[in-house]
Amino acid sequence: MKSARLRTRLSAANVLTVFVTVALISIVANFFIERQFQQYIATQQTQKARDIVAGLTQQYDLTTKRWHGEMVHAIGMNALYEGYVISVYDEQERLLWDAETCDMDTCRRVMADITARMQSQYPRGEGQFAPKEFSLISAGSFVGKVRINLFGPYFLNENDLFFLRALNGVLLGVGAVSLCISVLIGFLLAVRLSRPIQKAVRAVGLMAGGQYQTRLEGRTGTRELDELTLSVNHLAQSIESQEALRKRLTADVAHELRTPLTTLQTHTEAMVLGLWQPTPERLKSNLEEILHVSKIVSDLESLTKAESGALELDLESVDLSQLLESAVQTFEAPIEQKRLTVSFEGRVAPVMADQDRMRQVALNLLSNAIKYTPEQGRIVIGQTESKDTITFFVENTGEGIPTEALPHIFERFYRADQSRNRKTGGTGIGLTIAQSIIQAHGGTIAAQNVPHQGSRFTVNIPKRR
Ligand code: ADP
Repeated sequence: MKSARLRTRLSAANVLTVFVTVALISIVANFFIERQFQQYIATQQTQKARDIVAGLTQQYDLTTKRWHGEMVHAIGMNALYEGYVISVYDEQERLLWDAETCDMDTCRRVMADITARMQSQYPRGEGQFAPKEFSLISAGSFVGKVRINLFGPYFLNENDLFFLRALNGVLLGVGAVSLCISVLIGFLLAVRLSRPIQKAVRAVGLMAGGQYQTRLEGRTGTRELDELTLSVNHLAQSIESQEALRKRLTADVAHELRTPLTTLQTHTEAMVLGLWQPTPERLKSNLEEILHVSKIVSDLESLTKAESGALELDLESVDLSQLLESAVQTFEAPIEQKRLTVSFEGRVAPVMADQDRMRQVALNLLSNAIKYTPEQGRIVIGQTESKDTITFFVENTGEGIPTEALPHIFERFYRADQSRNRKTGGTGIGLTIAQSIIQAHGGTIAAQNVPHQGSRFTVNIPKRR
């Protein structure tokens, strides 16, 4: 199923919400206002009936004990025009004045108008004309009665109906206008929200197509969208640098392998062609080149493992002090050869770690220290521990690491001094592997120059992970 666009979804949800809200408000407002209005009309009509009764009572002359016929007629006709059909009786209940007898046409028209109006407004309404009787009491004595034929429980006149219709119209208008405004605002909001998302989608698409330099620009003012922009840019940047690293790695590997292979090839060809005698020295030189190639290959293997996250640690209690001492013993020959002094400072308690991997780190740091310490130099292996961390460092005298090289020495194939490095036989991968191993242990490894003393590599490993 094709999924809907965010903009459409948001707009539709917004329209629906506003529509339901406006409809609800209109219905509720209409219901309550109309109910109030009906109550008001009903009270008005009861009051009007009382006024008619009071007006009629005043038309009885107590001294002559007679009714003012003309006034009764005037009141009756007035009432009729307002929708009150009345009949007035004297104290002996003889008919004095009756709207229907007086003006049959007007009377019927008034009653028909009211019925029609009420039916048009309330088609299911059950209202109808029903007579109500009121006694006419003047100075405490019964002087007659009036029967008011009223459309009950209430009825609307022209003005009332106009008011109600106007009210409905206003509510409808307000509803329609708010609906339009909110649809517009909702649409603008949806566009504002969806645009940065679309941009991010486009940018990720470009990245998938290999355009890693793509970046998103501009702030949206919405926190989540700004975070999305930042994340996409971050992703682009890290893919770009990964890609650059990958390209460099391939080029570096090719470059690293080419030199020993070319040497091997030319030497061997010369021997095959009989130009060179295969003397033990020449064969030994070839073997050295082969060993160098194997070292690069095995370092690359370790690196790939370490960097692909496939580095599985075989944790056990490791006595680092002992491990460092035995690592130093491995290098007895070159240490003696360069007449280096190696000393230990402090000891640490055993820590949970991968014995073989830690040994690999120690060997790498020590072999570097031996490589980069001038003859008769000094190497110090220090060990300290705090509540949570075990720390050890390998420090050596010498020139130290060039300042501009410091931030890069943990990168693969990075060598501060290319020419010297060929001599030392380094591949520039050792520290990268060491860093991956230490990071897999949840620790850190850092390099620093010790003024006038050379360089120091410090490793921190958490005691508990
Ligand atoms: P390599 O196999 O070349 O030694 P590493 O990854 O172990 O590769 O080291 C990277 C670079 O860091 C080295 O080429 C060197 O320039 C620098 N480096 C490492 N250890 C030391 C040290 N103890 N003193 C000075 N420079 C060092």
